[in-house]
Amino acid sequence: MRRLPITFWTTVFVTVVCVTLVALDFERSWHARRVLLEQTERNATNLARAMSEHADDTLRTAETSLADLQERIQTDGTSPTQMARLHRLMADHVHRLPELDALSAYDETGRRLVTSQADQDRAVNNADREYFQYHLRNPGAGSRIGRPVVSRATGRWVIPVSRRLDKPDGAFDGVVLATIAIDYFREFYASFDIGADGAVALLSDDGTMLVRRPFREQSIAANIGNTPLYDAYTRVARIGTGMFRSTQDGKVRLNSYRPLQHYPLFVTAALSKDEVLAHWWRDTLTHTAGVIVLAALLALFGQRLVRQMRRRLQVESKLREARDSLAGLNAALEKLALQDGLTGLANRRQFDVSLGNEFSRATRHGAPLALAMIDVDHFKAYNDRYGHGAGDICLRAAAQAIRRQTPGRAGDLAARYGGEEMAVLLPNTDVAGAHAVAERMREAIAALALPHAGSPHGIVTISAGVAAMVPRRGVDAASALLELADRALYAAKAAGRNRVADGPDSAAP
Ligand code: GH3
Ligand code: MG
Ligand code: MG
Repeated sequence: MRRLPITFWTTVFVTVVCVTLVALDFERSWHARRVLLEQTERNATNLARAMSEHADDTLRTAETSLADLQERIQTDGTSPTQMARLHRLMADHVHRLPELDALSAYDETGRRLVTSQADQDRAVNNADREYFQYHLRNPGAGSRIGRPVVSRATGRWVIPVSRRLDKPDGAFDGVVLATIAIDYFREFYASFDIGADGAVALLSDDGTMLVRRPFREQSIAANIGNTPLYDAYTRVARIGTGMFRSTQDGKVRLNSYRPLQHYPLFVTAALSKDEVLAHWWRDTLTHTAGVIVLAALLALFGQRLVRQMRRRLQVESKLREARDSLAGLNAALEKLALQDGLTGLANRRQFDVSLGNEFSRATRHGAPLALAMIDVDHFKAYNDRYGHGAGDICLRAAAQAIRRQTPGRAGDLAARYGGEEMAVLLPNTDVAGAHAVAERMREAIAALALPHAGSPHGIVTISAGVAAMVPRRGVDAASALLELADRALYAAKAAGRNRVADGPDSAAP
């Protein structure tokens, strides 16, 4: 697999950090929102429970008072003295119970018999009231909670709770009535902390609105029978929560609703989702803005970092390339410096260095060192006849033949000594050994059979002089070996050329 560059991983790292940052913040905000909505739902549910219990208690108080009133009238009769006594009792009762607006009783014609109020005008007739007509027609029914009405006595909105009076034979004998002021509920509901947009309401099971906060006169006794909230209450579950749009003011709220335990009524507590989430939104927006700025800065710096890294990597790779090409160049130069350009043999410089080294080594080890000096015969005449270019080619061929004879041993070195003269350095070799090598070289060149009309042999030949010594420390010098070999070469030339002549062998015992 291809290794991915560091810039790639840096980009991945910065991206992952940025994405993680944003994702974590998103998750945190979403969690906070969920917790807030859950809390809101709990608050609404608790509120509904408190309202339900409160309404239950209130109605039970009214009902108890009515039962007492009914019992007194049915046992004690309706004589004026009884009525006067009852009035005092009722007034005292209403005075002690803030829930009750008034208590009153009506005979079978709807004429008022008695009331808890100071005004005892007997001309008041409530036969037209809906609850009166209901009890007139429904013998045996218990107490009844009616639609809100405006009280004739006080002019206030009240909820009528009524009960039928029976004659001993069971015939209709009138109605006892307890009224609960809507204001009593209003005051209680006003004490709730439901925010500016919250709403609570008390409703009857047939969908009639009894009390509502925020208070609107036209909401009283309004019917909400066709709303989603009423639908959920009657069809889905009698205790529940849901997000509904109010038909009263069009606001969307989280509603919690539940019935009263003992009466066919229900309550709903609704908190505005927008209002609850307003603070959350503010918090989330500032937080998100911060995170986005942070992520953007990180991305920006990451990008800069990557760009700089990339630039540095480019520079580094260019430097590496330059170094490599320089190294190649150096190697070539070094080779050039040590090699003879025409023949490819070692040049004079390398020969001098090697001779010095091998001479010292031989001195140290007490080993023999041999040298063969080789010179092409009648080469001046060759040049004159065939031209300098042909002379070069001939020299190169002779050099190759010489090199082929020294392939193996480490330390053997064939060099171009100068002009058409070559030197072969042979460590750990005596004169006889060197002679054999030089002889092979001579034969190899003769075997090339390069035509040379200027030579008595008709072909290109060489002469060689060999010498060897075991150098003595402090006595012999490398130049002495050179001189010996040179002298032997001279002897070979003098003896007729195309031959190998031996110098004195100081290595021999
Ligand atoms: P001898 O047999 O005595 O060696 O006769 P020679 O003609 O070879 O005599 P000498 O060694 O004095 O002559 C060397 C000649 O080799 C001189 C020069 O023209 C020629 N020569 C030296 N170096 C080169 C070279 O690099 N290329 C060519 N073409 N000729 C060279
Ligand atoms: Mg020469
Ligand atoms: Mg020569």
